[in-house]
Amino acid sequence: MAGRLAGKVAIVTGSSSGIGQSIAIRYAQEGANVVVDYRKRPEGADDTKKQVESAGAKAVVVQADVSKHADTQKLVDQAWQQLGRCDILVNNAGVEKGADFWDVTEQDYDTVLNVNLKGAFFLAQAFVRRLRDAKLPGRIINISSVHEDMAFPHFSTYCASKGGMRMLTRDLAVELGPIGITINNIAPGAIATPINKSLLEDKEKLNALLKNIPLGRLGTCDDVSALAAFLASDEAAYITGSTHVVDGGLMVSYHEQ
Ligand code: NAP
Repeated sequence: MAGRLAGKVAIVTGSSSGIGQSIAIRYAQEGANVVVDYRKRPEGADDTKKQVESAGAKAVVVQADVSKHADTQKLVDQAWQQLGRCDILVNNAGVEKGADFWDVTEQDYDTVLNVNLKGAFFLAQAFVRRLRDAKLPGRIINISSVHEDMAFPHFSTYCASKGGMRMLTRDLAVELGPIGITINNIAPGAIATPINKSLLEDKEKLNALLKNIPLGRLGTCDDVSALAAFLASDEAAYITGSTHVVDGGLMVSYHEQ
């Protein structure tokens, strides 16, 4: 199949919804076969699979909770067993839990850190081990957030997880560069997906946010998946250890009152 990702295989975690679904479909349109991962919504994963197949690519659906170490290994094993290789890993699965700092529970801390950071860490490890053994190059793309850098009051667990992802990417770029594996973060701003359901339903809050976005709109999943396709392609061969922001100018927008 023609396309920038022809002949490649990608794992996209959390591809049953939102940004992950869009990346899986975009990769298929660029020629890649895709491992579609979901945690609890098989219907979302089946929808992704259908759209990947309509683009002319293969899709393998795997139920894997990335916060569980054994499931991260399962995703890599399934890619190699069912699709014969695995060149691209997109750590997209993520959750957020809002609470004042003094009310954060141990359980919520563990949930957010285990999905957003531990999951990405051990999945990358399983992905890299196979490539190292096979002496093959690879690409890791983490869907981080502007909140790897920017404060998000009442979401301290989310910020800690994405800040950790920022440093993990910089560290692994140094360690993995010599074996031909690049790693980059995409930091989306406010993207219209189910994770932002309460924001999308609150007109007042939404309008206040839009005033801080120079381009005057929320981002779409396609805004993010276009960059994810570029970073996975040969055109991005010399890019590693960086965060690439997709936020309509949100991070650099500051208004004097
Ligand atoms: P979403 O629509 O809520 O999708 C989240 C996806 O993650 C779902 O497919 C979900 O699967 C999966 N998931 C959650 N926990 C998982 C686990 N333990 N194991 C495997 N999969 C799991 O959210 P989204 O907005 O597309 O978010 C995707 C990523 O972008 C996240 O990392 C998020 O932090 C980041 N991000 C989003 C925005 C934004 O404004 N939307 C901004 C910055 C960063 P199930 O549905 O099957 O549970």
